[in-house]
Amino acid sequence: MAHSYIVHYGELGLKGRNRITFERILVSNIQRALEDLGRVEVRRSYSRILVAAPDEIAADTLEGRLRRLPGIAYFAPVTTTKLTMDAISETAIALARDVITPDTRFRVTTSRGNKQFPLTSPEISRKVGARVVAATGAAVDLHTPEITLTVQIYDEEAHLFLRRIPGLGGLPYGSSGRVLVLFSGGIDSPVAAHLMMKRGCAVDFIHFHLLRGQERIRSSKIVAMAHALLEPHRAPGRLTMISAAPFESAMAALDSRVATVVFRRFIMRVAEVIAERRKIPALVTGESVGQVASQTLKNIHVIAQTTTLPILRPLIGMDKAEIIEVAQAIGTFELSVQPYQDPCSLHARRPSIWSHIEDVIEVEEKIDVNALLRETLANYVEEIRITF
Ligand code: ATP
Ligand code: MG
Repeated sequence: MAHSYIVHYGELGLKGRNRITFERILVSNIQRALEDLGRVEVRRSYSRILVAAPDEIAADTLEGRLRRLPGIAYFAPVTTTKLTMDAISETAIALARDVITPDTRFRVTTSRGNKQFPLTSPEISRKVGARVVAATGAAVDLHTPEITLTVQIYDEEAHLFLRRIPGLGGLPYGSSGRVLVLFSGGIDSPVAAHLMMKRGCAVDFIHFHLLRGQERIRSSKIVAMAHALLEPHRAPGRLTMISAAPFESAMAALDSRVATVVFRRFIMRVAEVIAERRKIPALVTGESVGQVASQTLKNIHVIAQTTTLPILRPLIGMDKAEIIEVAQAIGTFELSVQPYQDPCSLHARRPSIWSHIEDVIEVEEKIDVNALLRETLANYVEEIRITF
């Protein structure tokens, strides 16, 4: 025996070839996300995807995985039957027996993708409803039902289900291309990464640290956070760990009010080089207007001038409380609040909220930022592969 789910994707406006690409990506994402559980069959059929799993795989486990995959509008444990009114009604009664008692208010709703089927959707609902009433003694309630029995008529079969589980929405991981996330140990950038993944972007991570030695780098919470973000997709990932030590030593002698802005411009430059090498067309940050001194509009402007790549800032209009809520929901919050030593330049004393580009450039000339960029890229980069 097996249990089956029907998976529906939303996002209207997907047409023609785009739709096929989107469906194929979603099918392979579902396969990859469930692969370790056992022999799950995932197949595409017109405007839906069917997932069939052996009974050994618990419904809770399977549903938990599907809930976290972007690109799914909703999914439902489904019973499939032949395209005759008798078969459909028998199946409806069998499903109803488990949950519908004489006191249950229920309704039947039908959607008909197959226009050749001889009855209209309301006719099907009425006939099936009448058979369920006769079998269970329950009352139909079209407006405030406790249970809705859904019938979906397709070309080759009908699907029936009682429970519709909301999906995450968004677009399948990888269907929108790849972005490079500037990933800190804080609360915001993991949420920014999650929101981009939800919009279908595959992500590479880049992090600037002050850790010494391979062992500290590999066991750092940054690796754990990247792993946690990719976990729902079970997608292999790439985290680039870059030492900020050369930059920090160069800055150490200067007590600059624009240190944070200079640091952020430096990491943008490094990120741009890495993105261009990998043909990644956009950078992502966890910035939100006014949250800290480096995130005033003025400073955002000065920082952005270092690159021609688009800088995507999915949190730009969100409040900290809203960001924290998402961080908790996706499971990164606990890791974010663990103590971690950020590069010191992030904590300039009395940081300027209105940096002048002339002052910033003066500091950059003093530290010879171009030489630092070359030195950092040549000798201070460590690649970490995230696998499942
Ligand atoms: P977060 O919670 O993401 O750390 P924050 O509120 O601490 O954000 P900043 O420290 O000003 O804000 O950083 C703004 C953004 O710059 C971060 O969201 C991240 O995208 C990027 N960033 C900051 N520090 C680093 C770092 N060490 N490595 C890579 N990116 C960083
Ligand atoms: Mg931070």
